Amino acid sequence: VIERLCIIGVGLIGGSLARALKDQHAVAQVVGCGRTVATLERALALGVIDRYALDVAEAVTDADMVVVAVPLGAMEPIFRQMRGGLAPSAALTDVGSAKTSVVEAARQAFGALPSGLVPGHPIAGAETSGVEASVPDLFVGHRVVLTPLPESDAVAVERVRRMWQTTGAQVAEMDYQHHDEVLAATSHVPHVLAYNLLDTLCALDASHEMLRYSAGSFRDFTRIAASDPTMWRDICIGNRAAVMAVLRRYTEGLERLSEAIADGDGEHLMQIFGRAKRTREHYERMMQDQTEQGLGSE
Ligand code: NAP
Repeated sequence: VIERLCIIGVGLIGGSLARALKDQHAVAQVVGCGRTVATLERALALGVIDRYALDVAEAVTDADMVVVAVPLGAMEPIFRQMRGGLAPSAALTDVGSAKTSVVEAARQAFGALPSGLVPGHPIAGAETSGVEASVPDLFVGHRVVLTPLPESDAVAVERVRRMWQTTGAQVAEMDYQHHDEVLAATSHVPHVLAYNLLDTLCALDASHEMLRYSAGSFRDFTRIAASDPTMWRDICIGNRAAVMAVLRRYTEGLERLSEAIADGDGEHLMQIFGRAKRTREHYERMMQDQTEQGLGSE
């Protein structure tokens, strides 16, 4: 049991984690922390947290587990502010969608990386945000990737792992740079493409009429463009090297595709579309197998 859990950023992810641990009676007390009193009051009223503090150092005092669940761009000041209050024995983790920038933020803020730091990323979420959207079963059957550092204490890693397992998640470990490359390809660039498609189309004269005639394919492709812009701005900038590497490959592919279309090169299009369709079918079977094993997708 976690004696005192401090959640900094009681939104969709932080709130859902608190709810899940409370439901499982795996935490004695949850202290919330954030920048907006109204959010923390709402979290209190919903029973997601037991009390709150606006001062970060005060909020982390005596916590045996600290979870930072703010947008990536806010991580460094939060780490900086907790320096005076964080107990050396506390486990410290985060839920940021990119990991290199979190490790760098911690290095900048703490100087030497604290041994209690175990960066993490729950591969679960929604297009909604805020504590009102938090639910206790958000992580059930989803993966949580931990990216322990050479400095990370084995006991802290084990405590963070157990915390996530309690929420019903499957915990995996990965090197943090590798995490960022994988997530750039499977999550970050797809969000950039969805945002770009909508932004490009809405600049067209007939965009209003076009949206009226859109079908399921448009809806499927653009669902993720409803996600929080602050969060995605921070992810793109925080993981820019890996995102740019994938975007360059994508742009080359799009240019090849454009040329084939311009040339009326049906054979080339069949090759590309056929390969992509087979990959999609393979992916579908993989997801099916995972569902049967009790593992959900994002
Ligand atoms: P969210 O629902 O908007 O929650 C973020 C929380 O952080 C809110 O309570 C917000 O409070 C607070 N906050 C924002 N800026 C802050 C600042 N500068 N200082 C202190 N508190 C601040 O967002 P979320 O979806 O939970 O995302 C949080 C983290 O989880 C992000 O790092 C994101 O990359 C990661 N993540 C998200 C998903 C997803 O699908 N949503 C999935 C996996 C990981 P107020 O705005 O009310 O002040």
